[in-house]
Amino acid sequence: MQVFAYGAHAADKPLEPLRITRRSPGAEDVQIEIAYCGICHSDLHQVRSEWEGTQYPCVPGHEIVGRVTATGANVTGFSVGDLVGVGCIVDSCKHCEECDAGLENYCDGMIGTYNFPTPDAPGWTLGGYSQSIVVNQRYALRIRHPEDQLAAVAPLLCAGITTWSPLRHWSAGPGKKVGVVGIGGLGHMGIKLAHALGAHVVAFTTSESKREAARALGADEVVVSSDAQQMAAHLKSFDLIINTVAAPHDLDAFLVLLKRDGAMTLVGAPASPHAAPNVFNLIMKRRTLAGSMIGGIPETQEMLDFCAEHGIVSDIELIRAEHINEAYERMLKGDVKYRFVIDNATLAQ
Ligand code: NAP
Ligand code: ZN
Repeated sequence: MQVFAYGAHAADKPLEPLRITRRSPGAEDVQIEIAYCGICHSDLHQVRSEWEGTQYPCVPGHEIVGRVTATGANVTGFSVGDLVGVGCIVDSCKHCEECDAGLENYCDGMIGTYNFPTPDAPGWTLGGYSQSIVVNQRYALRIRHPEDQLAAVAPLLCAGITTWSPLRHWSAGPGKKVGVVGIGGLGHMGIKLAHALGAHVVAFTTSESKREAARALGADEVVVSSDAQQMAAHLKSFDLIINTVAAPHDLDAFLVLLKRDGAMTLVGAPASPHAAPNVFNLIMKRRTLAGSMIGGIPETQEMLDFCAEHGIVSDIELIRAEHINEAYERMLKGDVKYRFVIDNATLAQ
């Protein structure tokens, strides 16, 4: 089936309208009409080949929500008309230790929603800036939020799970002090989720102008990270810091804020590396510098259900498809509160 999409033909070209082909649903597949798709900073890294290896045309988008329009003969969990989501994963090997543990995100055979090999045309996966997608039922998520919140649910599929997974892994909750660095798409979800889990939340930002907004998102305290005095007030006090910053920066400034056995997990994926941190800032207090990539399918469902139960969605700015390039420029400037979401109905030409 031919559908409308938006994508780029080269790293230095803007995104533009395209036609792409979607496979017919196989026995295990769910076909989804995409209603909305969030714009993640990873989309921009990929489209501009900042991580290298981007295949063109590149159609990004892995914060997908919509409605089931067809199901294969062996599909059990979904019916036509269901509200569903698709995140960053559309396939994996299904039999390794990681897949068995429900951590398909760490499977060596994980197939990402865009730019990963597939037998489907054109040979690599094409993402959610498109009218529809077909995925194996294992990688489709059930959405239990009210339908009128659907657009604001989309960013949970990446920004939500990428912050939820480390919050759960490092046991964020009552009595724990959690820092979130960078108040963008990921960071604003990290603040909301850590707050809802009952942690004491401190937001770190480079933008003084986000102070009040960060409090409204659920931060108990807000620190402007360029202010040494404000930073010093939090020395050796954090159990966990989630660092979402999309650019290289001084990691030591945050490592020294961890208490003994505290951990900072990097989720931001800058195009060029951070300077190596001072080893003494790790060994002196048995601190951990870690990383975390999105989350597995069961924990993504857990996060979606938690958010539905607690009334949590993303703060979004809904845009028409023709404004995607402008949205990228604004995202680079930190000028978004806090996630752009595409109205996929505007893709039709
Ligand atoms: P975003 O909306 O652009 O937010 C990033 C935030 O980082 C900005 O709003 C800004 O917050 C801060 N920031 C940006 N440049 C900075 C700089 N030079 N120095 C200090 N702070 C800076 O991006 P996002 O969509 O949240 O994604 C963030 C990063 O996570 C990207 O690299 C993305 O590729 C990556 N990512 C990783 C995973 C994973 O699985 N690990 C999943 C999704 C995305 P303030 O204005 O508050 O300082
Ligand atoms: Zn993402």
